[in-house]
Amino acid sequence: MKQADLKQTDSQGVIAPALECIGLVKHFGGAQAVAGLDLTLPEGQVMALLGPSGCGKTTALRLIAGFEEPDDGFINIGGHTVSGANQNTPPERRRVGMVFQEGALFPHLSVEQNIAYGLTKGQGRDERVGEVLELIGLSALRERMPHELSGGQQQRVALGRALAPQPEILLLDEPFSNLDPKLREQVRRDVMGILKASHATAIFVTHDQEEALFVGDVVAVMNGGKVEQVGSPESIFHHPATKFVAQFIGMVDFLPASHDAGRLSTEVGSVEWPELELEELAGVNRNGFAQLEVMVRPDCLNCLPAEDGLGVVVEREFRGAFYLYRVQLPSGATVRCLLSHTAEYPLGASVSVSLRDGHHLRPFIGDHLVAVSHNGNAPGH
Ligand code: ATP
Repeated sequence: MKQADLKQTDSQGVIAPALECIGLVKHFGGAQAVAGLDLTLPEGQVMALLGPSGCGKTTALRLIAGFEEPDDGFINIGGHTVSGANQNTPPERRRVGMVFQEGALFPHLSVEQNIAYGLTKGQGRDERVGEVLELIGLSALRERMPHELSGGQQQRVALGRALAPQPEILLLDEPFSNLDPKLREQVRRDVMGILKASHATAIFVTHDQEEALFVGDVVAVMNGGKVEQVGSPESIFHHPATKFVAQFIGMVDFLPASHDAGRLSTEVGSVEWPELELEELAGVNRNGFAQLEVMVRPDCLNCLPAEDGLGVVVEREFRGAFYLYRVQLPSGATVRCLLSHTAEYPLGASVSVSLRDGHHLRPFIGDHLVAVSHNGNAPGH
């Protein structure tokens, strides 16, 4: 996004990340909205910033954009400190573009005038507007007014307007939340195509976990004003570091487990698992149960009718292509199983539940995923 000759490098010639937030803190009155936020975003990556309502996502964006000043911490953009160390670069000099929920186009300006808005007259402005119109696929509608566009087209113009000045970073705050679900999927695909075609570095705020997994090269999950985990969508989904992340990213159940002779055993089966670290086992109580649990997602389990099955179907939700069953196990614990619509079982049916091939049980102690010992390899990805 930024010209090569402007890039900041360290003494070894390594290009600085497009964005670094270090220990950011922001209070509003007595309440802490951002509580020691650390983020690093390399150039050309899209980060999905995900978290429950009120966890500080918008405040984090506003700090990065310069609309709020942090109480503590640093923000570096393209290797330059813009907040912290007695530095507070104003928003218009941060090279940060923003796209909001409602798009916020200027209603009295045409599509091309909206896109040209942030560009200085002359200096190739018309050419840049033409490039952006082509990028967002709206060259033919350049003279239309915002009210003559669909919701999806309006969001594309908003994106084009933010991209036109070639910002260092683009911040998108729940840009699709006002669109209906069908349109949202299409606009999401279009927008991601545009971001990738323009090699944009972007933070995309959402509280929709599916959207985060789709849009993010990396996903950062926020909780209580800080980042709880950051990683690829797959690693966040399959290896959540905490119960909070596991529960926030998709459906999940936790079952009691024991670990013995290199196996992790539960009511739905057992898998090989390397020896747990001593200090981790110290967290497990004397009989080896109770505090050791495994995480299972509904797609990890098979559930078959069986007269001698130990599970009982206690809930059934029809979801079109799938049924979501809740099954009670002999210990009283329940798990959810996601099955094809062809597997139609009545409430009260006896079933046997087992782990599907290729799926994994992840051990947790307390709120945290159990790490694998240094000489052991965890099964699966
Ligand atoms: P949502 O997903 O609902 O938009 P969020 O994760 O973006 O939430 P923020 O809007 O950043 O959360 O708010 C974080 C906390 O800071 C909330 O408790 C909110 O009420 C508070 N807050 C945000 N802005 C202000 C403000 N200007 N004055 C006072 N409190 C604020």
